[in-house]
Amino acid sequence: MSTANETYPADGRPQERLRVRGVVLPSEEWAEFWIANGRLTREPLPGATTVVDGGWLLPGLVDAHTHPGALRPGDPLDPALLRRHGRKHLAAGVTLLRVPGSAGRLPAWFGTEPDQPRVVSAGRWLGLPGMFYDGWARHVGADELADAAVEEARASGGWCKVYADWVVGEEGLEAPPLPAGLLAELTRRVHAVGGRVAVHAQTEHGARAAVEAGVDSLEHGLGLDPALLDRMARRRTALVPTFTVWETFEQVARASGSDRFRAWFRAVHARLGPLVSAAHEAGVTVLAGTDSYGTPELPHGRVAGEVRHLAAAPMPAAAAIGAASWTARSFLGFPGLGHDAPADLVAYDRDPRTDLAVLDRPARVIHRGRVIR
Ligand SMILES: [Zn+2]
Repeated sequence: MSTANETYPADGRPQERLRVRGVVLPSEEWAEFWIANGRLTREPLPGATTVVDGGWLLPGLVDAHTHPGALRPGDPLDPALLRRHGRKHLAAGVTLLRVPGSAGRLPAWFGTEPDQPRVVSAGRWLGLPGMFYDGWARHVGADELADAAVEEARASGGWCKVYADWVVGEEGLEAPPLPAGLLAELTRRVHAVGGRVAVHAQTEHGARAAVEAGVDSLEHGLGLDPALLDRMARRRTALVPTFTVWETFEQVARASGSDRFRAWFRAVHARLGPLVSAAHEAGVTVLAGTDSYGTPELPHGRVAGEVRHLAAAPMPAAAAIGAASWTARSFLGFPGLGHDAPADLVAYDRDPRTDLAVLDRPARVIHRGRVIR
């Protein structure tokens, strides 16, 4: 059905002209936008339907560390699951995902279809044999790792994801981390083709290798020496602490039956909040990532919980929200709310900075110019 109130975006589906207004974060400016063809405009559009009238407008939320599409280690990528997981994120106001590692190359429709968030992907998880799960990781030898990283970054259109260490039991504490020189060379190679490098590190040695290599993001960062934070800030290495997944890790530590592993985990976990707080103070870009897989313990669409963990670190509430919105978008190359920006936004009736629980109840989610809820 076609009416004068509709425009026709590239995918051919009719799209209504919309109007939203409210206080924009982070600028705190009162703004009014019209929406057509998936974009925001300041130019009034006659006949537009007002879908947000007051309240707070944020650029669409971002989960900077999530793994949709496969539940259990070794499972292949399941397209139906991928679609369901994408919708879960979107319903929660998450309009952009960074997927640092997946069970296979993500299909082109994921990240482009109207009912799916936008996606920044990193190809397969990459590690030396023994790092990360068999069947999920692309395990390659040390002499092939840089070539493989370049290949994954090229194929994914931007990022690759590399393991600097792997600790899910006592033996991981003894295993040697990825040699720092190798990670530095890999990073140079990926940067030379315009790619970016995300590095998993849970130990002091792994985190040090990542920071010294000048990678683009340090995932988890347990055990990171706070003395390296200034260097991270200078080299613009972001920190994605993934508090959400560590909440579930106490059970992993118990199940390991190793007192030593449990003691190690408790110690590094207890230091993570102060570390994140110090990272923010030092000017490191801290991002919200849940490390969700879609399991009952780690469901998708819960980035609001990660924001509350960041705020509890503590980080200022506005910075914690930015870590899951404007700061993350900027880090990944996406604009905030402004004229001609993509119409990806989330609206709240109350100011989420004064009550982070508000993030669980978006009044509106608009994605690619369409009302999602
Ligand atoms: Zn992960």
